[in-house]
Amino acid sequence: FFYFKIILGKNGVPVAENFQLEQSTIADTIQAGQVRVRTLYLSVDPYMRCRMNEDTGSDYLLPWQLSEVADGGGIGIVEESKHHNLAKGDFVTSFNWPWQTVAVLDGSVLQKLVPQLVNGRLSYFLGAAGITGLTALLGVREKGHVAVGANQTMVVSGAAGACGSLAGQIGRLEGCSRVVGIAGTDEKCSILVQEMGFDAAINYKKGNVAEQLRELCPGGVDVYFDNVGGDISDTVISQMNQNSHIILCGQISQYNKDVPYPPPLPPDIEKLRKERNITRERFLVLNYMDKQEASVLQLCQWIQEGKLKVRETVVEGLANIGAAFQSMMNGGNIGKQIVSVSK
Ligand code: NAP
Repeated sequence: FFYFKIILGKNGVPVAENFQLEQSTIADTIQAGQVRVRTLYLSVDPYMRCRMNEDTGSDYLLPWQLSEVADGGGIGIVEESKHHNLAKGDFVTSFNWPWQTVAVLDGSVLQKLVPQLVNGRLSYFLGAAGITGLTALLGVREKGHVAVGANQTMVVSGAAGACGSLAGQIGRLEGCSRVVGIAGTDEKCSILVQEMGFDAAINYKKGNVAEQLRELCPGGVDVYFDNVGGDISDTVISQMNQNSHIILCGQISQYNKDVPYPPPLPPDIEKLRKERNITRERFLVLNYMDKQEASVLQLCQWIQEGKLKVRETVVEGLANIGAAFQSMMNGGNIGKQIVSVSK
């Protein structure tokens, strides 16, 4: 079988060459409690950038070790089982799936999946019906203070990415009257408006973001779903209303820098935030796992009803996972970046 390990320990921007594909053999027999799985899909996510540091900056993330097999969200099919709850042909997932084409895993760490919940689109369990969807939904519900009839305007940064594209749609489903996205290409902006129901979208790489935002959000910003941090967020926060709310989802523009998480705002923006009583509480989806089951069911229902539009960018082959990670970090994806390992 093939597996991917971490090889370079240099500082700087992650590149595909930080990963190396190798070939190895796997045990012929499995022990009681174990299953042999074939990997179908792997996820590449921004938090993996933090796992490439010796100090991940958070107590819930362990650093990847040099020369060890990398891991992350994955989905596979059971090919042989000695676990009482799992049978050959079951689809299973884990947050710590090894980047291998086949693997022997402890059956107790795997969650069984029901493909019908996502119209057979299994990879959605790594995105819209998985951690990404949960992050968008619970971020909006736990930190957004969105209310039906409150006539709120929501702005989403990183809006055409996995979390962002869902967060804007969920903001609307939960009651926001206006949703504006910020993303890195014209193509992304037009998909947000034409497919995902955003009212407008701003390409932050073109023109003046502050000016466009003022035009597109004439009543100011009430809820800001922040995926990126940095200058974009400072611009949005400057246009936020009194008693408004930032959903502090992620700060991808800062992940290659040596700064604490969450990164402090510049003093003038922090002063304004305090004067306007804008909340900016840390949000971590893993703190709300008691709501996982009900929330996944809600997401699946919206997907089935066509109320939540889902986009994926799929790269084929384990050999391309390093490149897929690098591409996602640089904006190459629309919606969730997925690696399809086998059919
Ligand atoms: P994603 O948005 O699908 O992919 C990352 C996107 O970030 C890229 O497509 C790129 O799009 C944008 N980007 C990269 N560098 C940027 C920069 N310097 N400035 C502005 N945009 C930049 O990834 P995701 O998995 O959905 O994650 C989105 C955010 O949510 C990340 O910050 C992640 O850490 C966070 N997150 C948080 C939690 C939580 O529990 N709080 C859970 C999951 C994810 P453009 O073309 O628009 O630049």
